[in-house]
Amino acid sequence: MIHFLDVEPTLANQWRAIILFGRNAASYKFALSKVLLSLSPSSDLIKLEELALPFAREVCAHLRIAPRQATNSSSRFLEACKQWNARELTDDQLRNATAKLGFVNVIDAFHNLDARKLPNRFFVDERRTNGGIRLTDDFWRLNAASSPEGLKHETESRWRLVETAWELGLNRSLIAFDAQTEDLFVSQSHRRQAVTSCRHALNGYQKGHCFYCYAPISIVPGDSALADVDHFIPHVLKPFLPGNLDGVWNLVLACVGCNRGMEGKSDRIPSIASLGRLHARNEYLIQSHHPLRETLIMQTGRSTPERASYLQTVHSEAKRLRIHDWEPEQQGRPVFDVS
Ligand SMILES: [Zn+2]
Repeated sequence: MIHFLDVEPTLANQWRAIILFGRNAASYKFALSKVLLSLSPSSDLIKLEELALPFAREVCAHLRIAPRQATNSSSRFLEACKQWNARELTDDQLRNATAKLGFVNVIDAFHNLDARKLPNRFFVDERRTNGGIRLTDDFWRLNAASSPEGLKHETESRWRLVETAWELGLNRSLIAFDAQTEDLFVSQSHRRQAVTSCRHALNGYQKGHCFYCYAPISIVPGDSALADVDHFIPHVLKPFLPGNLDGVWNLVLACVGCNRGMEGKSDRIPSIASLGRLHARNEYLIQSHHPLRETLIMQTGRSTPERASYLQTVHSEAKRLRIHDWEPEQQGRPVFDVS
């Protein structure tokens, strides 16, 4: 399997790799990612005291919805955040506790990706010499070249998925799609809980490009290039096909041209080549220890051949019902055919 960064290792895709891959022992890298993407600093040097409060507030906000924020349950930093949430600490106390305890591992580990080194670095550690981190030119290039807003959404989405997986533990509830709100949700004891926007969850893998034609797409609400969440096998076929067409396995992000344009897909069936791409996408999500892994396995099969044959069966059934298949005109280079 080709690594995510072997194709188009742009700065934005390196940032995505930090968010999507690597070990998740705690959620701190998500908090750091969101805070860095929100910065508008006057200098390259960011002191820990400056970083501390916004960083801790991210963690505090998540602790309110998901009390578990690390695989190891004892953390003095998390205790401080919980106390702040309970109004037992002041902002100053939280800032001091965070500067002392909150960055111990995250600054060292931020750029680590399984066994790989990222080609670029977004900051250097100057804690010993200057009491903080120094942003690099690559950080500013990232900010200028891509939408920090989109990357913030992707960070938040991944964070929600990871903490949801921790919360659920062995109680494997399926993650499902709500077609009205376009959110992913879990049902627990008959209660529906929204987890994240489907757009924000799927965009990382697609690297900000349409699944079908590779045109650039956006996930920022209100953007003119806002992607559509598209059912690969059209949802109008729901009554006629087995399986769950609202499953994540069948959802991709498409540009408006592909989904709704004159030459668009509409209710037609994507070609067999696109089906291969869908299979590769699903395998990739499963093998990258994605929190959607269990859901994809339960919906499409336990092994790779089983899942391939599941997709083929649904695809040929769908083609029997709608003879015409559909192939878009390519609008860009393949950036995520990871198979
Ligand atoms: Zn498209």
